[in-house]
Formats: sequence, structure tokens, C-alpha cells
Amino acid sequence: MEEKIWLSSPHMGGRESGYVKEAFDTNWIAPLGPHVNGFEQDLRAFLQEEVEVAALSSGTAALHLALVLLGVKAGDEVICQSMTFAASANPIVYQGAVPVFVDSEEATWNMSPELLELAIHDRIRLGKKPKAIIVVHLYGMPAQMDTILSIARQYEIPLIEDAAEALGSVYNGQQAGTFGDIGIFSFNGNKIITTSGGGALVSRNAEYVSKARFLATQALDTAPHYQHSQIGYNYRMSNVCAGIGRGQMEVLPQRILQRRNNFNFYKKAFGDIPGIRCMEEPGPAYYSNHWLTTVLIEGSQFTREQIRLALIRDNIDCRPLWKPMHLQPVFAGTPYYGNNTSDRLFEAGLCLPSGSNLTENDLNRVVGRVRAAAAIEANVLTDHH
Ligand SMILES: *Cc1c(COP(=O)(O)O)cnc(C)c1O
Repeated sequence: MEEKIWLSSPHMGGRESGYVKEAFDTNWIAPLGPHVNGFEQDLRAFLQEEVEVAALSSGTAALHLALVLLGVKAGDEVICQSMTFAASANPIVYQGAVPVFVDSEEATWNMSPELLELAIHDRIRLGKKPKAIIVVHLYGMPAQMDTILSIARQYEIPLIEDAAEALGSVYNGQQAGTFGDIGIFSFNGNKIITTSGGGALVSRNAEYVSKARFLATQALDTAPHYQHSQIGYNYRMSNVCAGIGRGQMEVLPQRILQRRNNFNFYKKAFGDIPGIRCMEEPGPAYYSNHWLTTVLIEGSQFTREQIRLALIRDNIDCRPLWKPMHLQPVFAGTPYYGNNTSDRLFEAGLCLPSGSNLTENDLNRVVGRVRAAAAIEANVLTDHH
């Protein structure tokens, strides 16, 4: 068996362990500490917008706090992109609120503005105005933010941007994660940079961010004793993890270029195979970090499953696209507005190995396996005819 090729594995830049050692040497092995502040400043500088940043224990925690900050309570409804990872939607349920799922459009695979507006109208007609909207930049591709933002503003519904997969993606010259009332990032092990587990909450509203820090550290009132006037959480990033993050921030621009190079490599390599299409930026307004390179396998003599299984047999990690939330057993019966776009994408889509640490050899091995599988399946079909 050849060596495993991973979908997206951690890729250290080299200086992370120095920051972690510094945390040990100074005994800052706690949540909070100088690396946490430093990491927040690094992120803020990278985003190049007037935003404040709170470093947290995960992207999921950041989404949960975003809903708490926006006052989402039991019985409220929150609109959420259906095609996403479950962590986008779960925090809605943590609050006792109800998700309302909205389908994707073809150009970016993210929330369809038309269906979003339809959903808002229908929920208002049914007597409940949604309390928030969660839009996702899937696989690093920015959503149609100008239209989605103007709908959110028109109906005066706060917008949460799940940019967990999109650190470094840009839309109309502006960093993903800085458009919404609140944005979130993830630094889980498989994301474009990692803190071994972590997240961040970002907002132009400094009060939201200081409130997030307060809630993330058990909502301690200012008093010599432990006093609480609100329910708190233990959601802060640790100083050790933030040390890893500081090292990772130094190589983030490289990581973006490396992921984009993977995409260009695959696109060129599959250009002559009918039925395999790389998911591309739909226009000049979009700059994707190409966290994962994804392909659609449609209208071909081979299926997505045949290609997927051929790669798995060769010890190459690959996955179908995120299974939409409206198809998930746990969300059965949840309101959904759609036209089956994400159902179709889920059937035909495949995520290819996309780590920034892949070698040219690795990429050639993936491409060779895909090409061989496509040729074999196409021939098998021809032979039978
Ligand atoms: C990874 C991810 C999250 C959750 O982030 P964690 O840091 O793993 O909690 C949320 N939304 C999307 C779209 C993600 O890909």
C-alpha cells in the first residue's frame, strides 16, 4: 500500500514550537496570556478592516456566542445555509431556537439570495421574523455577499458570516468574515491554518467582541468574589494554542498560495476529461483561498462513487461534499426552502486532497488515479455496448 495522502492535514511553518516554548518558559499555560492578545492582533492586522477579534476555543463556540450576542432565544428562528458542516447549524439548537434551512445557488454553492428572500417572506407571513441569518463561504468560496447583505439590511436581520473555511478569501477586495454583523473563523486541524483546535469571533462592533470575551470566560462580574449576573461559557482560546496560531499567521499568505496552486494543478490536469469540472471562482469579484479543491462529476460515463472508491483503494483521502442539513436525519422535519441544488451537488461532488503540504508527487498520484479510474470506467461501458 502506498503512503496515505490526506485531505487536509496540519502544516506547521517552523516557528510555532518557539512560541509554544515561550508559553512554557513563562508559565503562561492558561486560557488568556500574551499569545492570545498577540494572535488576536495578528488576525486583526491580516483582515485589514476596522474589526475587533476574540480568540476562542473553536469555530463552533464562536458561532454559539454570535447567536447569544444577537439575543437568539428559545423558540426563535434562525436562517442557515443548508449546504454546510453541521457545526454551522448546531449552535442554533443549543439556544433552543429553530433552524430554517435555505438552499444554495450554482455559482458559489452558497446561500441563494432568491431563496433567502423567499424564506424571509414566508417566515414573516407565518408570523415569525427570523432573528439572524447564517451564511457560509463553503470550501473558501465567498458567497454572493453584496446581494445577501442588502437583503439582510432591507429586512433588518443581523447577518452572521461562517468563514470557518474561508480565512484569506476575498470578495470585492474585502476579506471574508468582515462583512457580517459578526464573522467567525475556525482553526481546527483540517483548516487552512490551525491552532490544534480553536476559533475566533470578529466584528466591527467592539461591544460585541468585548462581550464575547466576557461570556467566553464564565461571565465574571467585576468583584473580589465570584459573582455572576449572566450565564457564562468556558470558550476562550488557551495561551498555548494561541502560540501555535502566532506561528501559523506568519505563513498564512504562503498557505493561501499553496492551496490555490493545488487548485490550478488539478484544473489543468482534468481540463481534457469531459465530465470532471473543478469548482471555480465565478467572476473577478471572487478570490477563494481554495481551502479544498472540489470537483463535480456529472454527465460522464463514470460516477462520483467510482472515482471516490478508486482513490480510497489507493490510500488517497477524499470525501463527498458536505451533506446538506435538510437531508440530515437529526434535522428531519426542519423548515427548508430550496430547489434541490445542494442535493444534486452532494450527489456529484468530491473533495480532493488539498493540503498545503502536498508534494508534486502527491498531486500527480491523485491525478493519475483519477484519470485511470475515469478511463477504465469509460472503457468498461464501451465494451459492454
Ligand atoms: C470547521 C467548521 C466549523 C466549526 O469549526 P470548529 O473550530 O471545528 O468548531 C463551522 N462551520 C464550518 C463551515 C466549518 O467548516
